[in-house]
Amino acid sequence: MTDSPLWHPFTPMQAFAEERAPVIAAADGFELIDVAGKRYLDGVSSLWCNVHGHRVPEIDEAIRAQLDRVAHSTLLGLRCDVADELARQLVRIAPAAAGTEPLTKVFFSDSGATCVEVGLKMAFQYHRQKATPERRDLFLKLSHAYHGDTVGTASVGGISLFHTLYGELFYKTAAIPSPTPPGYPYALPEGHDADSLPRWALAETDRLLGEHAGRVAALVMEPRVQGAGGLLMHPAGYLRSIRELCTKHDVPLIADEVAVGFGKTGETWACQTEDVVPDFLCTAKGLTGGYLPVAATLTTDRIYDAFLGEPHELRTFFHGHTFTGNALGCAAALASLKKYEADDCPANARALSEAIGERLAPLADHPHVAAVRRCGVMTAIDLVAERVPHRPFPPERRTGHRAVLAARERGLILRPLGDTLVLMPAVGMPVGLADRLCETAIAAIDAAT
Ligand code: PLP
Repeated sequence: MTDSPLWHPFTPMQAFAEERAPVIAAADGFELIDVAGKRYLDGVSSLWCNVHGHRVPEIDEAIRAQLDRVAHSTLLGLRCDVADELARQLVRIAPAAAGTEPLTKVFFSDSGATCVEVGLKMAFQYHRQKATPERRDLFLKLSHAYHGDTVGTASVGGISLFHTLYGELFYKTAAIPSPTPPGYPYALPEGHDADSLPRWALAETDRLLGEHAGRVAALVMEPRVQGAGGLLMHPAGYLRSIRELCTKHDVPLIADEVAVGFGKTGETWACQTEDVVPDFLCTAKGLTGGYLPVAATLTTDRIYDAFLGEPHELRTFFHGHTFTGNALGCAAALASLKKYEADDCPANARALSEAIGERLAPLADHPHVAAVRRCGVMTAIDLVAERVPHRPFPPERRTGHRAVLAARERGLILRPLGDTLVLMPAVGMPVGLADRLCETAIAAIDAAT
């Protein structure tokens, strides 16, 4: 038992109570510090959201200055200067490409799940309110997708456990196959090789879009890398092909950049790596540098215009939470963005990614590592009982979890996704820290396998 009434998220509390998790009391740069004074390198950027490290003077100062002005006021019926400014900045940095509709409007919310949920609801309502209204109520999603844990976002997720547990509550969806499902590229479904599987997945998507023509409200996906589903990294060109299919079938594309946004792939937006402009872009985690819960859904004039009309026509977007566009959060986001651009965080992410690749090279011969997969700073190490023939560890052995505990003993915080060990340093982490990150991760893998 722990001595706290606190019930932790996504946590088997019985096992957790026995594991004596550190109690974090402070932080310093890229380290977290527990109540006993032990320091841990933050190897997963505090669940993929931290950008510049902790206690960043510029962000701390911006929050303090905002506290001297106003901490929070509502966006229902009132404007707020820092929220207006953050919206302008997001439009400025949004992905853009010649010949595509720009993302010009910003709707704030407060978590990754809510900004995706906003995109889903907006897409659904948009179809009902445009010149030729259609009742499109089906969402296309990728298998193994993760978009959050609210009822709406779990519906468009592909985590089968959530569907088993909560499926009776869910929205209508149809799944398109991920081009790189778990086990790709070394344990492929019968009849496929590493090239044919993504091609087949695209052909299936085209077929499903045609089959459900006129019914699909939107296709929602994590661009380039499916995060919580196992860090599934899509092949180059796949995202662009999905954009083309959405355009061909006149289906809005919702790009969930909650995990991949703010530099994780080496570009600010994963969509930019393939010159894609979605109809909705959802961002959260890194938006405030990982400081405060602010999220945003960006969309186009075309979508926005469908919500205009006299109040009595009820074309309003009926959504908005108490803390939408919180002023402290917006001030933190503005300070974080300024530092992000001044420090050229995407360039740092690319250099850090290279360094991680070099430092993890010894794992190429490790008997219990099937693959090290990388996209920008997003790094997955697949742990297996045997490489050839491919044999996973029994799930009850919780090998990934053991590796995380072994890393923690050695002063490194990591998180597993099953038996895939995830390294996701902050994009602003100095390249020099890659040595400590990777050496400790390798030692933890040796201890756990
Ligand atoms: N979308 C993606 C791609 C995510 O990875 C996550 C969280 O990990 C979410 C949405 C949900 O974000 P939040 O936990 O802030 O609701």
